[in-house]
Amino acid sequence: MEEGLPKYDHFIAGRAVPPQSRQYFPTEDPYRGSPWASMARGSAADVDAAVSAAARALAEGPWPSMSPSERGRLLWNVGEAIAERSEQLADVERRDNGKLAVEVLAQIRYVADYFKYYAGIADKIQSAVIPTDKKGVFAYTRYEPKGVVAIITPWNSPLTLTSWKLAPALAAGCTAVVKPSEFASASVVEFARLATEAGVPSGVLNVVTGFGSEAGEPLVKHPGVAHVGFTGGDAAGRRIYELAARGLKTVTLELGGKSPNIVFDDADLKQAIKGVVSGIFAACGQSCQAGSRLLVQESICDRFVAELIEFMRDVKLGDPAEPDTQMGPIANRPQFERVLEYLRIAESEGAKCVLGGKSRPDLGSGQFIEPTILVNVRNDMRIAREEVFGPVLVVIPFKDEEDAIRIGNDTAYGLAAGVWTRSLSRAMLMTEKLKAGTIWVNNYRSTSFTSPFGGYKNSGIGRESGFEAVKEYLETKCVWISTDLDVPNPFIRR
Ligand code: NAD
Repeated sequence: MEEGLPKYDHFIAGRAVPPQSRQYFPTEDPYRGSPWASMARGSAADVDAAVSAAARALAEGPWPSMSPSERGRLLWNVGEAIAERSEQLADVERRDNGKLAVEVLAQIRYVADYFKYYAGIADKIQSAVIPTDKKGVFAYTRYEPKGVVAIITPWNSPLTLTSWKLAPALAAGCTAVVKPSEFASASVVEFARLATEAGVPSGVLNVVTGFGSEAGEPLVKHPGVAHVGFTGGDAAGRRIYELAARGLKTVTLELGGKSPNIVFDDADLKQAIKGVVSGIFAACGQSCQAGSRLLVQESICDRFVAELIEFMRDVKLGDPAEPDTQMGPIANRPQFERVLEYLRIAESEGAKCVLGGKSRPDLGSGQFIEPTILVNVRNDMRIAREEVFGPVLVVIPFKDEEDAIRIGNDTAYGLAAGVWTRSLSRAMLMTEKLKAGTIWVNNYRSTSFTSPFGGYKNSGIGRESGFEAVKEYLETKCVWISTDLDVPNPFIRR
């Protein structure tokens, strides 16, 4: 363990718990390129303690006896507590993943709203009386919490992506063990502490930090876990799906994307440029919903790309804590190397770089990549098919609507798509034909706690946010009650 750094333990059963191995690992500030805190290195033994605490909290103590309205009030209080401490949480998260201070703060404030939305839902989960064809019996459903939920999240938006799972899971009455990314876990541990101070009973929310293979896998495999909510890359997603299947556990998987942002020649081009820029370059492209494939109608392609380059030319890269910085560092060293590798791949495939394309060793830790635009790209090249998760935009021209639909859908992914046009009928056609979980027309990146979000194809399974998310954390039980003691039974003749 690095001496003198703040130390984060696991958070189990309402308190900080050191790792059973006594081992810690450093977490780095990507702007400075140096460790800023030490995190507990979780193992199967820590996971077992956390799942046991979550199982106890589900079976005994205040949580299972709370009414849904009481649970709702508690979630509201958690939302209030996050809002009050949003600056502190944002500061911690920015140090961990290098996202712009303004961006992280806006995200954390929205996390508070997430909890308040699900606070309102907690006592509106209504089951149904089922009309049946049987006489003398009365049937109804009960929705019950699935049990202990495992929540495994990536480094790009640690608290946001945790809350997308945790808030509906708690509204449903589940308890949880969170395993945040090894690259950015501190804000999630801080949040668990804060939620406990806001009244969440001991054991309802537990956090085990550490690596995917050492802490993540034991959590997914643990027999005490009923459901796994995961956000991350395809490889880990597939592995988690396989492990969960062995235990017949349910999953929600939010995976990657290679989303098309499609600009027609009748679009408001000024708005389209802004949408394309924020679509790919916000968070340095380290966002699952990044519009990383720009499809532009042939007739305006050269002009549109020229304007895009002009718009991006003076973008300020630098310290994410500074208010005038527009793009910060890449969040961690392996991701930085991965983006550089994709730039090499693109070059070897014949793509031409018309903006950026280089790292910036002169800034901070040097872990910076310029906003990059690549042309001469065909949709069958690796740079157009694989998720880079960095500030790299490929431009592919198309002829007409049919061509745009064909190229847009020619991907293993299906998370999102953007469409820019003034024609309503064209917009309606595209929203119908594009195979993606979210379609934005004349905007990009809008999401809300009220609206379902998730992927088609390799982009995932299940939906987060909105009312649908709560269903992922509920079991349906059907209850049959005799209203007539002499219900006919074909097997017993009297
Ligand atoms: P990752 O898949 O490497 O890791 C995500 C999490 O899974 C981490 O906590 C990691 O420790 C854990 N993990 C890894 N292997 C595991 C295993 N075998 N068992 C259990 N846990 C394991 O992803 P990352 O590099 O942290 O994040 C980047 C990826 O996340 C990108 O591909 C991106 O598209 C995706 N992402 C998707 C969304 C979405 O909502 N669809 C949002 C953000 C990021």
